[in-house]
Amino acid sequence: MTKQYKVVYRKSECIGAGACEFSFPKGWHFDKETSIATLKDPKTQKTDEREELIINQEQYEDYLDSARVCPVLIIEIYDNETGEKVFPES
Ligand code: SF4
Repeated sequence: MTKQYKVVYRKSECIGAGACEFSFPKGWHFDKETSIATLKDPKTQKTDEREELIINQEQYEDYLDSARVCPVLIIEIYDNETGEKVFPES
C-alpha cells in the first residue's frame, strides 16, 4: 500500500491570496466572490472552519508545493499513519 498523507486546511484563516490555486489549479479552487480557497477533490471533508483530505504519495508533491506558497501557512500536511506533521515543520 502506498503511503498516505492528510491535508488539513484551516480555511477560516484564509486571507485570500490565491497562491494555492495558482500553484496547483487541479487541487484548489479560489472563489473570487468570497476570496476563500477550497479543496477541489470530492473526497474532501468540509466544515465551515476547515477541510481535510487524505492523499497518496503520488499527490504529495503537488499539495506540498501549494502548502509552501501559502503566505500564512494554513495548509498543513500530516503523515496519515503516524499523525506526525510533515509540513510546515514546527
Ligand atoms: S494561499 Fe493560503 S491564504 Fe491564499 S487562498 Fe490559498 S489557503 Fe488562502
